[in-house]
Amino acid sequence: MKQADQAYKRTRRKSTLTGISMHIEKPEGIDLSNTGKLELYFIGTGSAFTKTRNQNNLLIIKGGHHLLVDCGTRCTQALYDAGITLASVRNFLITHSHADHIGGLEEVQLFNRYVLGKKPGMVINEEYASIIWNQSLRGGSEQSESIPLSFADLWQEIRPMERKDMPRETWEATVGNINVKLPRTMHFPDSATSWEDSAWSCAVIIDDRVLFTSDTRYDPALLMDYDSLMDFEIIFHDCQLFTGGIHASLDELSALPPNLKSKIILMHYGDNWLDFRQQALDSGFHSWAKQGHSYIFE
Ligand SMILES: [Zn+2]
Ligand SMILES: [Zn+2]
Repeated sequence: MKQADQAYKRTRRKSTLTGISMHIEKPEGIDLSNTGKLELYFIGTGSAFTKTRNQNNLLIIKGGHHLLVDCGTRCTQALYDAGITLASVRNFLITHSHADHIGGLEEVQLFNRYVLGKKPGMVINEEYASIIWNQSLRGGSEQSESIPLSFADLWQEIRPMERKDMPRETWEATVGNINVKLPRTMHFPDSATSWEDSAWSCAVIIDDRVLFTSDTRYDPALLMDYDSLMDFEIIFHDCQLFTGGIHASLDELSALPPNLKSKIILMHYGDNWLDFRQQALDSGFHSWAKQGHSYIFE
């Protein structure tokens, strides 16, 4: 193990001996605050093309703080249906620029500026802020007033710091009492051979307890390197139901060691997931992520 890894292990706040202490609830209506436990609410668990699920967007809630991870084209409607007003969502984190992760952001930024008159917060580094603005968000918002708007006119940027002691490029930020570490991932293009030659995308490590891969191709090093550092209680993993393209498939993930599979909850799956439900359980995965449910960590 590298020296930096050892130093990191010594500073960990949580014991690795506590094991999994997580339960699942289906709340009547979701609230953006709770009694202080780490709560992960799945607004959706579906892939980019699903029609029977919402998009794979996640709400992190802890005490009086919250952070929305990704905001796809159907996210604001899904939030409304879950009893959450757009005005009440104040902090955003975006993992990459596919529409099932950013398609709702134009509504968010224009609603905030012209209805609420304030800026929502976004955890984003300088590099990705430039990408998301110039390649995606600029088109529908820049020419709204006499003077062209910029990303910083619409968003309160929360700058993560780069961690130099991690296995790969990793950014860290704390929103209230919610700590997130953002390792780069290998999602697209399909020709990329590692995270280093991939377009911008990241996973989200929450309070050093949970790894949420967001969208990624099969990349065992992401799981093994960070799990050896943090001994995750649960890993939520992208799961495509066929092999090929820019997502990890169920067949590829099935090759992982049993100790990892036993804590992997599969998410971002297609409409035909029921055809594969038993296969995944037989292979040793923890479960399939449940839309509209909260995963609560003691
Ligand atoms: Zn996606
Ligand atoms: Zn994607």
